[in-house]
Amino acid sequence: MTTRRQTVTVDVGGVPIGSAHPIVVQSMTNTDTADAEGTAIQIAQLARAGSEIVRVTVNTREAAAAIPEIVARMAEVGLSVPIVGDFHYNGHILLREFPETARLLAKYRINPGNVGAGQHHDANFATMIEVAREYDKPVRIGVNWGSLDQQVLARLMDENAAAGSPKSGTDVMIDAMVVSALESAAYAEELGLAHDKILISVKVSSAPELWQVYRQLAPLCDYPLHLGLTEAGMGMKGIVASSVALAPLLTEGIGDTIRVSLTPEPGASRKLEVEVAQQMLQSLGLRQFLPQVTSCPGCGRTTSSFFQELAQKIQDFIRDTMPEWKQKYPGVEDMQVAVMGCIVNGPGESKHANIGISLPGTGEDPRAPVYQDGKLLTTLRGPRIAEDFQALMEKYVQERYGHAAQAPASTLV
Ligand code: SF4
Repeated sequence: MTTRRQTVTVDVGGVPIGSAHPIVVQSMTNTDTADAEGTAIQIAQLARAGSEIVRVTVNTREAAAAIPEIVARMAEVGLSVPIVGDFHYNGHILLREFPETARLLAKYRINPGNVGAGQHHDANFATMIEVAREYDKPVRIGVNWGSLDQQVLARLMDENAAAGSPKSGTDVMIDAMVVSALESAAYAEELGLAHDKILISVKVSSAPELWQVYRQLAPLCDYPLHLGLTEAGMGMKGIVASSVALAPLLTEGIGDTIRVSLTPEPGASRKLEVEVAQQMLQSLGLRQFLPQVTSCPGCGRTTSSFFQELAQKIQDFIRDTMPEWKQKYPGVEDMQVAVMGCIVNGPGESKHANIGISLPGTGEDPRAPVYQDGKLLTTLRGPRIAEDFQALMEKYVQERYGHAAQAPASTLV
């Protein structure tokens, strides 16, 4: 079992983040924030997919001005997901010019590499921290290697050049990211921001460097850590890269909130990044979001695609029905369902699931045994095997998980 790195708890708009709480899934919109309607629609999609926090870029006056309308639109549809503002370069100006926006955002993301250079750097950073104190907001010190604080990097490069055995350029850059994050957090506290109002991230775009920078940072502080690759990429590459990068750290107990930064395929839904993040935590046994469907890969024993279609159908049905099930059937997210292609591994896998089906393989009798809680329940035959199995699964959910939901009602009688 994973032992989480111990952290303080930071409250982000009612969502607690830290080692005493489940790892939080968050996401970010890719709409123009100035388009309040489009942004609100996407935030709602992400929230309904399970994003517990949603970040939006606040890059212009128009974007800052749109935040109150976005928050109001979310309230209209009954969604209370905390909205985080992502600030670069002009955050100190926008947060001062738009006090209602400063009040409504649940957290401010500050990139210490993008708050101005030279004498302006500290003053701009201080202004954002002042606003955070005024409105009692937490901040994320979000260091990114693509926009690393050049003053810190130059200082560490000079120190490294003067050292007896200089480190590699990558190692110095990793050091600079950690130093930039910790010095910024310490400065925020000097300015009066409470210790439990700070989260940190140090994002890079390759897995080995992500492991290095977070392993270096983790023992040096007890701020909650936001984990993610900065640019994971598109489709399968992005999903694999994110999983490979985040899984070892999460297994070591490092990471209190995650974001999977996928580039959506043209026309694809933004909510995939939420589903990937959820599946990652679920596969690691760290959180349970929805029933797990175990299906075999298929092989030469299954010549038809029927079982693949059934596995997909069951998975889609569960995902679509989950919002309703979650309300009516507490604990249903722990259910295990098996959809197997033949009797080689089918009955065995089905017996380990709450409910499972083995479809007939090539040359096998056209029948599909269904196991429930380890015992043979029935054997399905005919053209409606898919519909019949779905009905059995729904009945199982009602009987197994319906009691907890019904109990309070009966006490009212
Ligand atoms: S369960 Fe049957 S169909 Fe599925 S991979 Fe194993 S042998 Fe092939």
